[in-house]
Amino acid sequence: MRTPIAAVCVALSLCFVASAGAATTQGGEPHTVKPEGGALDLVSTSFGQRSRELEIIYRSTEAITPQLLAEVKGGQICTVFAQASLAARSVCVTRTDGKWRIVSRGERVEGSVSQPRASELRLRFKPSAAKLRVGIADVYVKATAAGCSAKQSRAAKITWSEAEIVSAAVLELPCEHRVPRVGSYQARVWDVVTTGCRRSGAGQVSRGPSGKRIALTYDDGPSTYTPAFLRELRKLGVPATFFLIGQQVSANASLVRSILRSGSMVANHSWSHPNMGGGGAAASSQLRDANAAIRRATGFTPCLFRPPYGSTSADLVNRANAQGMTSVLWSVDPLDWRSPGTGAIVSTVLGQTQGGAIILSHDGGGPRSQTLAALPQIVRTLKQRGYKFVTLTDLLGYAERITLVK
Ligand code: ZN
Repeated sequence: MRTPIAAVCVALSLCFVASAGAATTQGGEPHTVKPEGGALDLVSTSFGQRSRELEIIYRSTEAITPQLLAEVKGGQICTVFAQASLAARSVCVTRTDGKWRIVSRGERVEGSVSQPRASELRLRFKPSAAKLRVGIADVYVKATAAGCSAKQSRAAKITWSEAEIVSAAVLELPCEHRVPRVGSYQARVWDVVTTGCRRSGAGQVSRGPSGKRIALTYDDGPSTYTPAFLRELRKLGVPATFFLIGQQVSANASLVRSILRSGSMVANHSWSHPNMGGGGAAASSQLRDANAAIRRATGFTPCLFRPPYGSTSADLVNRANAQGMTSVLWSVDPLDWRSPGTGAIVSTVLGQTQGGAIILSHDGGGPRSQTLAALPQIVRTLKQRGYKFVTLTDLLGYAERITLVK
């Protein structure tokens, strides 16, 4: 059992967990490298994790110019990660073709580089993109200015023992600035657990923003039909959002977990599927009990609710909002629960879908073979029309709630 030890982060972009193993070094003694007109002299480096991404900040005494880090002339700033049982791995920033690039072992690492001020570079990337593991890492930084002549460099004698420097005789490395000069700092790559999502904007929606993104939604599960839907979605490479009936969750807990693991989203469809349009305290209990069941099974708290039968009211929307959920209706309804035939389901969905569509279907409440059979043709055709399938939370632009765990 992993122990959550960091505060819950509410916004993907703002979630800097300062306690999450952020190591700030001040170890770079003044050590100026002067290549062709410029100096590269790191005065501090910070390591931390923002949500799913590692963040490394390099600060220099002077401007970190594109010329200083020109890849063709050998310019780069690298953080070297040593993790237990893994070969040391460098993650470097260079300047290539007019752009900052993150590179590891000669390969591009997907991520971002920003320069909030001339003397500072900020890198962000997912640990997995650089093939780093969750856990402790010993790190140090090497900066090499472009065009610096290797002849200036004196030999350094460093002895390693079990990944720790036990002795070093480094007097001067004019072309390579190392932070710290000797040894390493400890940083941590955290595991990220999604604990929920955060609603925003309108209290009730029936479609997403126009554009090419659309969402498949399934109501009335989890049921014996749900695994077949998950298999088909995986084959097609698209996610969906499952509105679950709370009282069916505990008997299908592992199935509900596998929905989330597969990249699809889980949401609240009440505890026992009554007509909740009248609102009132009973409606609040229905909402609360269903979320509690989903949270018990998965550790995840939904931020989306779909009223059974689409029966809604201002009071019900307010109650859902008060529990952190948006009330979600739909813009495309093939009436699949009536079993109108696979062809009819396909043609209704294809006929009604526009950008931002929320497509209603069912993976429970009765035989769902027609709905399942319609899925591949719907997905393939809509992809051909340029649509991208996303979860409802993505469609609505909601942030994740995450916890960083050791
Ligand atoms: Zn329903």
